[in-house]
Amino acid sequence: MGQGFTRRCMSCGDETHFLQGIGFRYFSFLQEVKEEVRAGKFGKEAQAFIIEYPECEFDARNEVYFCKDCMYLKQGIEINMSYGDKSFTKQYRCGKCRKAIMKPVKLDTERQYKKFAQIPCKKCGNSDSIMVDFLMWD
Ligand SMILES: [Zn+2]
Ligand SMILES: [Zn+2]
Repeated sequence: MGQGFTRRCMSCGDETHFLQGIGFRYFSFLQEVKEEVRAGKFGKEAQAFIIEYPECEFDARNEVYFCKDCMYLKQGIEINMSYGDKSFTKQYRCGKCRKAIMKPVKLDTERQYKKFAQIPCKKCGNSDSIMVDFLMWD
């Protein structure tokens, strides 16, 4: 069971879903992500790791990343690979400032929800009528 949230702009109707965790397709999800890593979709570094250590421990989950400098939210996939004392964690650089490493968000406080509601709508720029709804998915 995964969770997440939806940001809905009451002004223009734009809606974006952000998902965290993994659904019931856990194993096929892992398999798919692994293939994508191998194909280079998550960058050269990740690809090099899995090619060098094909038997590595592999874990992946949907995650929502946030740059607090830019108030920029992004859907991503957290990837952790380890083999012996070697490990790799996929990091996402902010798509806006291109500097900050984005941190996975925790959706456990009301303050956090409020913060996400203040981010202007990417379609119409409005920021006073964004609704944030909790979301469960599988
Ligand atoms: Zn940024
Ligand atoms: Zn809007």
